[in-house]
Amino acid sequence: MSRILIIGAGGVGRVAALKCAQLPEVFTDIMLASRTKSKCDAIAADSPVPMQTAAVDADNVPETVALIKQFKPDLVLNVALPYQDLNIMDACLETGVHYVDTANYEPLDEAKFEYKWQWAYQDRFREAGLTALLGSGFDPGVTNIFTAYAAKHHFDEIHVLDIIDCNAGEHGQAFATNFNPEINIREVTAKGRYWERGEWVETDPLSWSMSYDFPEGIGPKKCYLMYHEELESLVNNIKGLKRARFWMTFGDSYLKHLEVLGNVGMTGIAPVDFQGQKIVPIQFLKALLPDPGSLGPLTKGRTCIGCLMKGIKDGREKTVYIYNICDHEEAYAEVGSQAISYTTGVPAMIGALMLATGTWKGAGVFNMEQFDPDPFMAALDAHGLPWTEVEL
Ligand code: NDP
Repeated sequence: MSRILIIGAGGVGRVAALKCAQLPEVFTDIMLASRTKSKCDAIAADSPVPMQTAAVDADNVPETVALIKQFKPDLVLNVALPYQDLNIMDACLETGVHYVDTANYEPLDEAKFEYKWQWAYQDRFREAGLTALLGSGFDPGVTNIFTAYAAKHHFDEIHVLDIIDCNAGEHGQAFATNFNPEINIREVTAKGRYWERGEWVETDPLSWSMSYDFPEGIGPKKCYLMYHEELESLVNNIKGLKRARFWMTFGDSYLKHLEVLGNVGMTGIAPVDFQGQKIVPIQFLKALLPDPGSLGPLTKGRTCIGCLMKGIKDGREKTVYIYNICDHEEAYAEVGSQAISYTTGVPAMIGALMLATGTWKGAGVFNMEQFDPDPFMAALDAHGLPWTEVEL
């Protein structure tokens, strides 16, 4: 029996809300709130159970507090944008409710991808006896859980971790992003960074690549080294890690467009003067690009996201690969979203499920790998993201 307030009605919000609606015995009352209420209403119209909706500007803490006081949720699932994280955490503290999100806080004017702002809430959440669960999407999220599961069941120590994210889907558009274009482009154009023997090594954006042969017929794809936020918590929490890297596949056409857009300044995040007013180039670009939600019916193919881990068990070296494959068209048939939103929205619901059922408990701010991975792994299997583990 749990009341959940979901904030954000984009691609991920749609999947998270409709997945919560599939579990009425746990999520007895659901409210979906976002800046644009009509988007919430459109999602609620597809829900098999009643879902309340509301307009909220989550940048405005008193407004969010008022909504929480009116609806009285047990927890808030934040699937708006990373810019709202701290304001929603403040509103949760003020009203005494648990907090879950899928992406770390980013200041609007700096693409930094650091947990420091949210980890600074540790004492306040602990003292309030509340849980803040950070990064309950796929990456971060399931990738943290795959690593924690391998550390628990397969290794005494994991020495090398490669998180590899492959989208082998096609949407037929010249250039489009699979989730919020502004967040996606900020992430992809940032410098690469990986963990090597106790320190961070920086690389130029997309300057390192490798080919990886993905399983189940997906085949070899070129993957680029990027920084990704789960590396920061995993190197703290997983014993013995000597190297940790994150890789993502990109098609040549996507990279060509991104390079040109970057060269002409269209991916910039600093405001520029345009005919007497300030505009942020990347926000203008977002207005021109296809809405990721519109890609749902167009996207075919599969994603394959997993963790490749090398380490030791009982003195023996071993390599384990744990991955999920998600089919874009099957995801669309189930909840009306492509696999990128699906692979994020399902773990967002599962993170909320872990707290709502008391399976995961704790006062403070937590990253995913700090809790027992087993019930989360079981829930992935049960709720649409089955996984495979192989020893290589
Ligand atoms: P979308 O842009 O599709 O949706 C964002 C939603 O948040 C929109 O409904 C938007 O409202 C709403 N919103 C924005 N600002 C506010 C505000 N101030 N107050 C209330 N609502 C607001 O994004 P996605 O659904 O693709 O992504 C959602 C989140 O998931 C992002 O934080 C993203 O980084 C994260 N993510 C995480 C992944 C993971 O694996 N961990 C992978 C993919 C995404 P409006 O429509 O009015 O603009």
